[in-house]
Amino acid sequence: MNYKKFIADLHVHTCLSPCAELDMTPRRIIDAAMEKGIDIIAVSDHNSAENAEIAMRIAEDKGITVLPAMEVTSCEEAHVIAVFDTIEKISAFQEIVYKNLPDGINDERLRGYQLVVNEKDEILSFNKRLLFNATFFSLKDLVDVIHNYGGLAVASHIDREFFSVMSQFGFIPEDIRFDALEISYNTKKDRADAVFGRYRSYSWITSSDAHHLGDIGRRTTSFFLERPSFEEIKRALKGERRIEWNDGVVD
Ligand SMILES: [Zn+2]
Ligand SMILES: [Zn+2]
Repeated sequence: MNYKKFIADLHVHTCLSPCAELDMTPRRIIDAAMEKGIDIIAVSDHNSAENAEIAMRIAEDKGITVLPAMEVTSCEEAHVIAVFDTIEKISAFQEIVYKNLPDGINDERLRGYQLVVNEKDEILSFNKRLLFNATFFSLKDLVDVIHNYGGLAVASHIDREFFSVMSQFGFIPEDIRFDALEISYNTKKDRADAVFGRYRSYSWITSSDAHHLGDIGRRTTSFFLERPSFEEIKRALKGERRIEWNDGVVD
């Protein structure tokens, strides 16, 4: 089988995330990713996927693949990236995530705006939910729910000292079936090998966790696949396809 290299950044926030820059519109994100030679991105906002469909639509004619994703916060305050293949699946998943968010209204002055936009960067609505809060899911339940809805569960930035499974648990519990571990742009491969070597049975990816346009592609993962699809990435995370890290920005 002939495999082709696809460069992926599977952790990019849009202007729907309260902590992301307002110019992180799907259109600009896709332009920035294409400029950097990225083939696949996952749009992964906090506890919501309301900008995913427009991002997928914008990408359709452009030769770049957008996977709908969401960075969900467990009740222990650990972040998990849930990656899906279709908007239908992530929309169903989003419904249950919304039911598991605390009631309340986002204080935009304190937390930042949560913008849902169209392909012309026009604001369609302000999401008022508490998207930055923790959900009521335990980490174990969250990963199970992601799988039940057909998604892949990637432990976010395990090298970070906050909002990660390592920071909140001190280790990766064996009964939590992550499909992959993500290491942030802060940690190079050698260092990750030294610190997290005992978790080598998982696949490792690295991504930008971009909150600004300039962050996109500061870290990427190369996947050697038949085609740039969710199914192929799933195979890669199972160890059936080669994965390589790119420590620097793609040139
Ligand atoms: Zn995070
Ligand atoms: Zn993030």
